[in-house]
Amino acid sequence: MTDPILSVRGITKSFGGLKASNDITLDLHPGEIHALIGPNGAGKSTLIKQIAGGLSPDSGSVHFNGRDVTHMSTAARARLGMGRTFQISSLAMDYTVLQNAVLGALGHRGDIFRFFTPVMKDKALLASAQHALEQVGLEDFSTFRTADLSHGQRRQLEVAVALTLEPKAFLMDEPMAGLGAEGSQRLIGFLDGLRHKAPILLVEHDMDAVFALADRISVLVYGEIVATGNADEIRANPEVRRAYLGEEDAA
Ligand code: ADP
Ligand code: MG
Repeated sequence: MTDPILSVRGITKSFGGLKASNDITLDLHPGEIHALIGPNGAGKSTLIKQIAGGLSPDSGSVHFNGRDVTHMSTAARARLGMGRTFQISSLAMDYTVLQNAVLGALGHRGDIFRFFTPVMKDKALLASAQHALEQVGLEDFSTFRTADLSHGQRRQLEVAVALTLEPKAFLMDEPMAGLGAEGSQRLIGFLDGLRHKAPILLVEHDMDAVFALADRISVLVYGEIVATGNADEIRANPEVRRAYLGEEDAA
């Protein structure tokens, strides 16, 4: 098997007496969608934050693209190619779709507060923004106000903003949240193709999406990974059914 792009080893994190992450080890390989599921409060977002850099683990390590990033800032990890979409939208609603994509590309270049107007004439930034919009299928919407996009299109725009950095992998925390059935279907189709550009560690509540997309699924319960496997293995795992799917009769 190829080397993992992301490798989490023995991550532990306590909040007071609560072990939100308890010795978590997982990998993300090129080309795969690895879903992370578990009940509310299991510690999914806490784990994603430690991988992305917003939160420091008490112990354990995170390696990304061959480098130890455990003590690097979020910005440094992003520059190394760790792409991320957020549970809360970070888009500027009054700006156009293209402006948001350009701002994303600019932010990754590290000079976000400089001269907005000239930036919209910066050919390299514009090309990178337009390319990202094409990749998510939003090129015909570039002049739309972001507020006028559907919920699903905004999610796609968030991915486009992340794509301007040419990420080597994605972390996504509940990208389907708030989408209707049609929006979810479209996003599922989109993520399905995205995995070949950049593998995805996907936290998602929507089990239809998880079972449709994931090459592997890890189940987190009370801060611990209780099982990792493909969809069939996870469906059949008695511990998972008991702990997570809420079945009494799993034997
Ligand atoms: P999930 O994303 O799986 O729903 P979280 O990672 O958000 O779960 O939370 C895991 C547990 O850690 C919960 O019990 C939550 O209340 C607790 N928790 C998360 N962040 C903090 C924090 N900053 N301080 C104290 N407790 C926290
Ligand atoms: Mg969460």
